[in-house]
Amino acid sequence: MALQPDTVHCVTASSYHPFDDGSGIKAGIWAGGAKENDATPMIFDRGSVLPGQNAGYILCDDGVLRYPGQNYQLNIGSQPFLKVNRKGERFANESTPYDNMLFAAGRQPGGVFCQVFDGNCDADIIRFKTIGCASYTRAMVEYAGFTAEEFIDFDGGSETFFKADTLDELADMLGFEGADKETFLATCEHYNELFDAQKDTDYGKEAYRLSELRTPPFYGCWFGGSLLTTLDGLRVNAKLQVLDADYNVVPGLYAVGDASGSFFNTNYPEYFPGVAAGRSVTEGRQCVKMIAKDAAFPASAQSFEIAEPEAAPTEWNDGTYTGNAQGIGGMISVTLNIKDGKITVAEIGPNYETPRYPGYFAISSGLFAEQIEAAQGPDIDGITAATLTTGAVKMAVRNALIEAGK
Ligand SMILES: Cc1cc2nc3c(=O)[nH]c(=O)nc-3n(C[C@H](O)[C@H](O)[C@H](O)COP(=O)(O)OP(=O)(O)OC[C@H]3O[C@@H](n4cnc5c(N)ncnc54)[C@H](O)[C@@H]3O)c2cc1C
Repeated sequence: MALQPDTVHCVTASSYHPFDDGSGIKAGIWAGGAKENDATPMIFDRGSVLPGQNAGYILCDDGVLRYPGQNYQLNIGSQPFLKVNRKGERFANESTPYDNMLFAAGRQPGGVFCQVFDGNCDADIIRFKTIGCASYTRAMVEYAGFTAEEFIDFDGGSETFFKADTLDELADMLGFEGADKETFLATCEHYNELFDAQKDTDYGKEAYRLSELRTPPFYGCWFGGSLLTTLDGLRVNAKLQVLDADYNVVPGLYAVGDASGSFFNTNYPEYFPGVAAGRSVTEGRQCVKMIAKDAAFPASAQSFEIAEPEAAPTEWNDGTYTGNAQGIGGMISVTLNIKDGKITVAEIGPNYETPRYPGYFAISSGLFAEQIEAAQGPDIDGITAATLTTGAVKMAVRNALIEAGK
């Protein structure tokens, strides 16, 4: 992100997987490939934060820089409701691709925006007819029987969303004070006028995506960007061969998906739903076909075996042992006490997994500890919707037992 400082100015949350650390792109560069010139992020407008929180990194207790977002994929952030800055001003057309709104927010105080809507929001959301992954909110309201408020709660947004009987009260909850509060209230009133006229004379938003702010309760939430991935990978040609700095093919080197650039150069057109996952799968398939015909690949390089990880020993010395493994949000440490061949869990932590999600809960509630003690080793069932956290806990137990092994 150092190459794309605009991103840091507007991002409040991470949606990417910590194992995706750019090592594929680095390996390609070391092998002679060139990276795209223009750094390009994929960011979604769904990183909800509390009032007063700025976009950008914060330094955490473990010395790691992280984004402050309370929720990294609060889907309703992508609905084209009124969005204002900290001064209560509208600053962009809310009916644009996710990252356009965010880059505009990156030039506003704190790099965040506040989304506001009223008690008619269910009908508004259905009328807005958002597409792609932004339509998740609409689908839940239109077809799954949720109200928008219920869906916000279901989607993990209740801590950051505010609800009030009046816009005045909502303004206070959202942190607008003095002149900023007056501006906020005036912006809401003006937005009602635009709705009445069915014409957005300020930013040209489509009439069907205007909405009123007149029917209580009123809702508001602060958002910034949620970073999904970089799109400026290795420069490739149409055959997915990696090119060097002079645009010549690096023999035998291919790149697909997010490790490759070129396909999404400088922009992620998310109005083509599934285009990123779709191109990754399609490119992967095509690439394997190319490799099969490429003389640069000797037959011996076309098959390989994956080594099984070292198994945990089954006999241990008494003592206290700690093992570490990478979770979704950071390193997970598991500390085991072993006495007379029996394992008890002293601690699992610190817990940097995503709050409110199953992996975080299984650590903080002691569920993983119970499973480890029941299994007397790393062979635990874990829990659904936390595959990676479960894997990290198992690996950390294994590593502790390797230390303890006789
Ligand atoms: C929250 C979120 C929502 C998204 N929504 C959509 C959507 O609605 N539609 C859409 O089209 N796209 C979406 N995307 C984007 C899409 O998922 C990605 O562009 C796509 O998955 C990229 O595929 P890939 O195979 O290139 O990389 P990945 O799917 O990231 O796979 C890379 C793999 O490599 C592994 N790895 C990393 N480093 C190493 C190493 N050194 N050694 C071995 N393995 C390694 C990783 O663990 C990972 O399994 C979304 C992405 C995110 C994060």
